Amino acid sequence: MSTFQAPKGTYDLIPPDSAKFLAVREAIAAPLRNSGYGYIETPGFENVELFARGVGESTDIVTKEMYAFETKGGDQLALRPEGTASVLRAALEANLHKAGNLPVKLWYSGSYYRYERPQKGRYRHFSQVGAEAIGAEDPALDAELIILADQAYRSLGLREFRILLNSLGDKECRPVYRAALQDFLHGLDLDEETLRRADINPLRVLDDKRPDVQKQLTEAPLLRDYLCDACKAYHEEVRELITAAGVAFEDDPRLVRGLDYYTRTTFEFVHDGLGSQSAVGGGGRYDGLSEMIGGPALPSVGWALGVDRTVLALEAEGVELELPSTTSVFAVPLGDEARRLLFAKVTELRKVGIAADFSYGHKGLKGAMKNANRSGARYTVVAGERDLADGVVQLKDMESGDQTAVGVNEIVAELESRLG
Ligand code: AMP
Repeated sequence: MSTFQAPKGTYDLIPPDSAKFLAVREAIAAPLRNSGYGYIETPGFENVELFARGVGESTDIVTKEMYAFETKGGDQLALRPEGTASVLRAALEANLHKAGNLPVKLWYSGSYYRYERPQKGRYRHFSQVGAEAIGAEDPALDAELIILADQAYRSLGLREFRILLNSLGDKECRPVYRAALQDFLHGLDLDEETLRRADINPLRVLDDKRPDVQKQLTEAPLLRDYLCDACKAYHEEVRELITAAGVAFEDDPRLVRGLDYYTRTTFEFVHDGLGSQSAVGGGGRYDGLSEMIGGPALPSVGWALGVDRTVLALEAEGVELELPSTTSVFAVPLGDEARRLLFAKVTELRKVGIAADFSYGHKGLKGAMKNANRSGARYTVVAGERDLADGVVQLKDMESGDQTAVGVNEIVAELESRLG
């Protein structure tokens, strides 16, 4: 071990497990690519104000969890704690919304940073794949995103997740509800910090996980009963569309989520095999966010799915992903001449798209075959001096153990045909 270790709350992705992470990212991205979402990549840090205004001054993410710092040049930056604000910032900056092609549909994949108390499923550095559909108010778009996330999880083989759905109302009905909730909260026996939170952002109190708080909240007014007609109709259409698509969901009138920018549709994907950190993904509509960060009105909707927790969910369900073998052919040269020849053959195989590896380090037959076994290769190509004198190499099928001599000039074509 070196003197250094991965920082607290982080971990390294190393083979073979790292292949699972790649597969999960790929599985989440596939339905998005297939549905008109274009790939976007933004910097790992942004002006701290973007998150303060976008995510919300009173959220835990901004007040407690942000890696904020001042640069040598005096800029106030923060490592990104989430993706939506950055993606919207980038779309506005590039004027994507003015190209006359709304909604702008984007997907992304990357690292996010929150200074949280680490535990299983909760890290300070984690990875998300996200999607945002910017600039259209259309329940079909909200439904599309929920359906695509469901499809992504199912394509991985996950079954034991649930979709929780709620509407947070809009700027017409939410203030009325907010006031009613505040009245209710002020009648409870709450500590000072929670009462302060009730003043600044009462909906967040509903999200308080402490049992003594939850107990007092059973009679709390629900936003569901305050939705204006427009929000009600909108929500009903989202529900109908996802129902028609055969995607099961549960109405959760208490779902508020930890970010301030959500309006109307909000949803979370939870997996019951994960213990307390059960949310594997979440998202919703954020019709006001663009204006909050200085842009025009651009009603939008999006989600982010956590890659780390999706991998944990797969493990919890015992799903083994079918990962492609990384190496199909392993070359074992015995002697210098064979080394030169097989090294060239390996390069040729790679050029025609066959995953091939080579026994490095001048190993003897026994050591080299051990490497060949470990590589998981279906075929091994062995060549010694006598083979070369005969103009052949030995092709060994690692599954059946069968070995045949194949002409030096035919070996690439033979492997191409065998590997299909
Ligand atoms: P959020 O932006 O908080 O809704 O997060 C979206 C998803 O990202 C969650 O459902 C988790 O799967 C994942 N996530 C959020 N925070 C963390 C964390 N600290 N560690 C691991 N995954 C996280």
